[in-house]
Amino acid sequence: MDIGHQGLARYPHLFIGGEWVAPEDGGMMDSVDPSTGRPWATVAWGGKRDIDRAVAAARAALDGPWGRMPGHERAALLYRLADLYQARAAELAVLESRDSGRALRESRADLGAHHNWYRWFASLADKIWGRTVPMDDSVHVFTSRLPVGVVGAITPWNAPMLTTAWKLGPALATGCTVVLKPAELTPVTALELAKMIEQAGFPPGVVNVVPGYGAGGAGEYLTAHPDVDKIAFTGEGNTAKAILRTGAETLKRFSFELGGKAPHIIFADADIDQALNAATGSAWAVCGQSCALGSRVLVERPVYDRVVEAFAARAAKVRVGMPLDEATHMGPQASAEQLAKTLSYVGYGKDEGAELITGGNRLTEGAFGDGYFVQPTVFAGVTNQMRIAREEIFGPVAALIPFDGEDEAVAIANDTTYGLTAGLWSQDVGRAHRVAARIRAGIVWVNTYRYIRWTTPYGGFKASGWGRENGVEALDSYLETRTTVVSTTGRFPDAYAN
Ligand code: NAP
Repeated sequence: MDIGHQGLARYPHLFIGGEWVAPEDGGMMDSVDPSTGRPWATVAWGGKRDIDRAVAAARAALDGPWGRMPGHERAALLYRLADLYQARAAELAVLESRDSGRALRESRADLGAHHNWYRWFASLADKIWGRTVPMDDSVHVFTSRLPVGVVGAITPWNAPMLTTAWKLGPALATGCTVVLKPAELTPVTALELAKMIEQAGFPPGVVNVVPGYGAGGAGEYLTAHPDVDKIAFTGEGNTAKAILRTGAETLKRFSFELGGKAPHIIFADADIDQALNAATGSAWAVCGQSCALGSRVLVERPVYDRVVEAFAARAAKVRVGMPLDEATHMGPQASAEQLAKTLSYVGYGKDEGAELITGGNRLTEGAFGDGYFVQPTVFAGVTNQMRIAREEIFGPVAALIPFDGEDEAVAIANDTTYGLTAGLWSQDVGRAHRVAARIRAGIVWVNTYRYIRWTTPYGGFKASGWGRENGVEALDSYLETRTTVVSTTGRFPDAYAN
């Protein structure tokens, strides 16, 4: 990392075709430290010509040695990347915390685990094979699985390096090539990753990194580009719709990881202390800025008041502070826009008659200054029709909704346009299975929460996405299937013989 004359970290180059190049029709943009509201880094961004160059490099790599490289050699490169990543994880965690405002204790745990994703996908790279399809003995039928081609990977700001690993891992395991466009709020770690790609020895053009703007910028050009075969996207639903519209012209493949409004159901027969650990942790982790969080806390009525009281008590224990301070539990929101959005939802909650139990304010005193800090917030008396229960806030706002019995819990849980994650707490094993089986979400956690690993398929029902990341399933959306039919006789009937 270079430090420029204004004390800003400088990243003046894009990574295209294995080289560090200045933008052709882009420029430099500042990355703001959300704990101060001031720039801390200045980063190159790419324009249309830069995307053209990156896509051309990715295509050339696909047509070059990479396209012919056997799986075990791709695996060796991925393992090397995993080693480099693991060695630099602590440093990357600091950079991600500076870019996104996430508390370092969270970033460290998160980035410290990412190498496992690269190792997992490395372990799959030489196991991508088709099937033989038994038919009659006049033919030999088999399928082959081929890389889908050039992948445009577009990532969000809330978990930049994790969402990148979820795309890069399967793309490289399957033999695709990648143009990565990180979020404009958090471009720094993507460029650090590019250094590791180079160091690991991936052939030029296999991975290209072009920071830039989304709408009207690098993200949209990438989506429109006729030589990009697939867009792998994590972000907001409205952005996914815009990407679909742009990409429709070239009939690309798409995989989407989108938002969530997860129900976190606490039955009266649960181990309440454990449920509270999970529910409060998941309400305020990443300052509320994660798609997986249980932002709708559904509580069975006999324990509702107890849970509301405990939420307020635990909110008081959350140490909001500077992201790099080891003691900090919760950093600022990632941007001024996100802060304004969260505060606006506090207003909607009050206007619609929910009871604000604690929090709801921006913090500006002392060191908080111009940073985007907000208090952990709890609303009680929430109904599932209120906006704070229906819309993704992406702030540290817990909405506590009372319910009576299993049927109502399931009805409320499923009464949402989303379907990404869900949690439920009950010590009745039969109930746990019954309820889990009725929930329309991509992952249901029973007596635990946010257990997400490289092996566990992750993705959404309904408006929460298309396709799955992680697990073996992640490979599917990076592969095409070709069926080959070989005649064993060489004879073909003449349709017009009589
Ligand atoms: P976003 O606004 O949708 O942006 C995501 C990415 O798309 C950014 O790189 C953005 O660039 C780019 N983009 C914006 N408009 C575009 C366009 N028209 N064409 C192509 N690219 C475009 O999402 P975000 O605010 O960064 O992230 C928060 C959202 O991500 C939430 O909804 C959250 O639930 C979701 N999320 C889901 C998962 C999951 O696994 N399901 C994980 C994490 C986050 P700019 O940065 O320049 O706008």
